[in-house]
Parts: sequence; structure tokens; C-alpha cells
Amino acid sequence: SRVASHALRRPGGSLRVAVVPPGMTRIALIAHDDEKPEMLEFAAEHESYLSTIDIVTTGTTGERIRDEVGLDVDRKASGPMGGDLQIGGLVAEDRIDAIVFLRDPQTAQPHEPDISALLRICDVHDVPLATTRTSAEYVLAGVAADDGVDLDH
Ligand code: PGA
Repeated sequence: SRVASHALRRPGGSLRVAVVPPGMTRIALIAHDDEKPEMLEFAAEHESYLSTIDIVTTGTTGERIRDEVGLDVDRKASGPMGGDLQIGGLVAEDRIDAIVFLRDPQTAQPHEPDISALLRICDVHDVPLATTRTSAEYVLAGVAADDGVDLDH
């Protein structure tokens, strides 16, 4: 995965050839309440690829993906309780390859500062971040391609 090759490059800036074991790709999935149906549809559509990688989620998003799609996920706290910050912490540690964050563009969120922090740390670490269904399709296709998987087939 991209994360693993970054991790190997970072210390001295020198490139080393690395054999990256499969299953190291890790993405985060987060959806605000209005967007949860869209996230469930996205996860169901890509269930076969998603079942081969590590998935981190906020609390309720992950509960529903687990229960309604059947994917194994690492659930953090609910967004308003700090889940976005927990996922941001993983980004800061270079442990996330990409994030799909389906935000509700119409509703003010009590944890807006946490959301901004997550977006910012993704910028800092150049982690691909999709906030809409269409961008999510592109980002996931790119992540899958890095794993040698063609999502169209
Ligand atoms: P949730 O958190 O998955 O626990 O609903 C997402 C959010 O509302 O930020």
C-alpha cells in the first residue's frame, strides 16, 4: 500500500525496495446521518474489495456498515464524541491510505472543529479525501489500483 511505502521512505529520504504484504491498505469511512444511506450503498457496491483491506470508521457509521453490509470494521468513537479526531490521529501516524467522508453539506455539526481538524491533517499528510459519492468512487478506484485491483471488473 501507499502508506507502507511512505513509511519505508521517510526516515532517511532514501528509497528502499520493499515487499509490501497484502492487507496493509487501510481506509477510513465516515458518514453524517443524512449521508449514511449513501455510504451503505457505496460499501455494499464495493464489498468484495473492501473485505480485503482494513477499514476504520466512526461509531455509528461502522455499526451500520458491519450490521447491514457485513464488513469487519475497526470502529472508533462516534463523530460528535471524538471519532473524527481519533481517525485524524491515525492520519498523523501515516496509517491511513484514504478517507471517504460523506459530509452533510446542509446541516451544521456540533463537532465542526473536529471535522476541520481531520480535513486539515489529511491536507498535511496528502491523504486522499473524498467527501462525495462520485469522488469516493475515484478515490477507491485509485486505492484499489495501487493494490493491483481493478474495481470495474
Ligand atoms: P457516526 O459519526 O458515524 O458515529 O455517526 C459520524 C459523524 O457524525 O461525524
